[in-house]
Formats: sequence, C-alpha cells, structure tokens
Amino acid sequence: MNIILLGPPGAGKGTQAARLQAARGMVQLSTGDMLREAVAAGTPIGLQAKVVMERGELVSDAIVSALIGERLDAASEQGAIFDGFPRTRAQAEALDLLLSERGRRLDHVIELAVDEDELVKRIVGRFSCARCGAGYHDSFRPTQVPGVCDVCGSTEFKRRRDDNEQTVRTRMVEYRAKTAPILPYYDARDLVRRVDGMASVEQVGAEIDAILDGTV
Ligand code: ADP
Ligand code: ADP
Ligand code: ZN
Repeated sequence: MNIILLGPPGAGKGTQAARLQAARGMVQLSTGDMLREAVAAGTPIGLQAKVVMERGELVSDAIVSALIGERLDAASEQGAIFDGFPRTRAQAEALDLLLSERGRRLDHVIELAVDEDELVKRIVGRFSCARCGAGYHDSFRPTQVPGVCDVCGSTEFKRRRDDNEQTVRTRMVEYRAKTAPILPYYDARDLVRRVDGMASVEQVGAEIDAILDGTV
C-alpha cells in the first residue's frame, strides 16, 4: 500500500507517518527530512535548499522528485508513506511516473485538515530528539520526564530554524497557492480521504487506521 499524507505545515503528517512506520512497517518518505539531511551534510543540493527552506519557500520540483526517486526502491516491499511530497502539481505528476515505472500505484491521499491558528501553535512549540528524532510539542506532546526523550533517554533536543511564526506564514501561503490545488488532481481519481486533523494524535491515528483497513 502506498499513501500520501497531505496537509499544511504542522498538520501532523510527520507524527502520523512515524506512527504508521512503527505500527505497520511501512516506510516514511519525508522530503523535508531528506532536505534537512542534505543541508546538514553540506551537499550541493543541501547548499541550494538551505536558503529556500529558511525563507519558507518551496525547493525545486526537480530536486525533491529526484530525492524521492532515489529512496523509493528501498521502500518497495512494505509500501510507502509520502510525507510532505508531492507539494505541487508537477511533483504529483512526477510521483505518478515514478510509481508506474515500478508497477506500483497510489492507494489513498489522506488530507489532514487543521485551522491556521492551531497550525502556528503547533509549529512554534515543535521540537524533536536530537538522537532518535522522536517528535514532541511543548504543550501538546511533552516528554514524560521533563528534558528526557521517552524513546531513547537522550537529553539533547533540537528545534527547526524554519519553525518560527514569520516563516510559518510564508509556508502557509505556499501551501494554499501550490499544494492545496493538487487535491482536485487526486479527487478526480477518487483517492482523497479527509481527516479532521484538529482531533488528538490518537484519534487522528485511529481514523487513518480505519481508512487503511478499509473499515470506513
Ligand atoms: P512541514 O513539516 O512544515 O510540513 P517539511 O519538513 O515537510 O515541513 O518541509 C520543510 C521545508 O522543506 C519546506 O518549507 C520546503 O522549503 C522544503 N520542502 C520539503 N518538502 C518539499 C517538497 N516536496 N517540495 C518543495 N519543497 C519542499
Ligand atoms: P507536520 O509534519 O505536518 O509538519 P508534525 O507531525 O511535525 O506536523 O506536528 C507538528 C507539531 O504538532 C508537533 O510538535 C507535534 O507533536 C504536534 N502534533 C501533531 N499532531 C497533533 C495533534 N493531533 N494534536 C496536537 N498536537 C499535535
Ligand atoms: Zn530520543
């Protein structure tokens, strides 16, 4: 099974993708994570992407489509969760080609719908474990023991440079202008399932599970 998690910044895509990866052995393919790795490694792609990401704008379709293509083969057995990709019509078309070349298809496009005021709160409170990458939130999903990662026990955490109110506004404009318009592309194929992303992490997870299990 191959699914897309589609939604604005902070909608809960990464949180739900990590859950599905752990629970179902699917592979999370996050272009945001791939780009941040490239930035940290200082590769040519990373150097190009860094400034664009810090402005909150979209990295070029060619770069992100190539990154997905490289990782897709590794995810061929278990099924892929596309997290933060595609973000434009051109990327959606590139993904169709990448999948069909491998004899695979899309099963669901899950849209996570969240109000803009809530998105800003989620983004500015977001942090993650510097060792294992587990995701947290200052108020909505704190660690059980303050300052200690629930998963690996590390006491080092990090925050994204682009998770500030100013950049989030630009990212939302980009989402509305370029990403939301790809929903009709998938709607025409009857692939879109809308989930209320304002619900708790557990409830959103249960709704996604029901879609994947075909019980709704
Ligand atoms: P969020 O968690 O806010 O949805 P991501 O981690 O997915 O953010 O992406 C962070 C940044 O990386 C984006 O603002 C954009 O600059 C870049 N990026 C990630 N995925 C893509 C993509 N598919 N196309 C273009 N740019 C992307
Ligand atoms: P995205 O990948 O769509 O940008 P994340 O999964 O990183 O979003 O979630 C953004 C922030 O909101 C994180 O700090 C996360 O812990 C928190 N969060 C995710 N889902 C929910 C939810 N349903 N309710 C409250 N907070 C949430
Ligand atoms: Zn950890």
